[in-house]
Amino acid sequence: MRIDILTVLPELLDSPLNHSIIKRAKEKGLVEINVLNLRDFTKDKYKTVDDYAFGGGAGMVMMIEPVYKAIEKLKNERNYDEIIYTSPDGEKLTQKTANTLSLKNNIIILAGHYKGIDQRIRDHLITMEISIGDYVLSGGEIPAAVITDAIVRLIPGAISDEQSALSDSFQDDILAPPVYTRPSEFLGWEVPDILLSGNAAEIDKWRHEQSLIRTRKLRPDLMND
Ligand code: SAH
Repeated sequence: MRIDILTVLPELLDSPLNHSIIKRAKEKGLVEINVLNLRDFTKDKYKTVDDYAFGGGAGMVMMIEPVYKAIEKLKNERNYDEIIYTSPDGEKLTQKTANTLSLKNNIIILAGHYKGIDQRIRDHLITMEISIGDYVLSGGEIPAAVITDAIVRLIPGAISDEQSALSDSFQDDILAPPVYTRPSEFLGWEVPDILLSGNAAEIDKWRHEQSLIRTRKLRPDLMND
């Protein structure tokens, strides 16, 4: 899989894309992630990527041309399954979307900045718009990192224990059960006996029950869907 991220602030992506599971997935050759600086696709000496909004009003708008050129360059090199724009008014990111995207070969993620991007980019170049939640961030870099993380950890082999991703919250529309580690007792706070019993079948059953209890309590909406 290949993910190309287009941004005016590549520095914001350095850390999230170079640690933990994403780092290991890249090292194992499961995913290639490229961050392209939109300033490299400008033609003036100031490397301008934004301009005033037509009609006035506060805030700068990301210009079409650098984005268009970057996307064209990438499209000339390979076919893309999706060209995603991170946007607060997009489709809300869910585990289902992450599952679907993890099966793709090549995707582009465009991170917006400032007041947003020229609407014509959205109308003519973007195939999918994703929001990470109903709040507004300063830029699409963190959303791009969130989307990338959600996708990459689902690629088979990215997580050492493959079961691990499948047993996470939302995979079966239920939340993950509680987890515990040593010590089995701390300040009198005890781990449920069943987890220390060594009885794998009973433990599985308990975990499933706990998942259902937790989902009913915290996210009943998941079960009603
Ligand atoms: N004026 C816009 C917000 C611009 S925020 C509006 O009101 O809708 C600047 C950029 O940050 C956006 O272009 C987008 O790429 C990104 N962004 C902000 N919040 C986001 C969110 N919740 N999900 C995904 N991207 C977001």
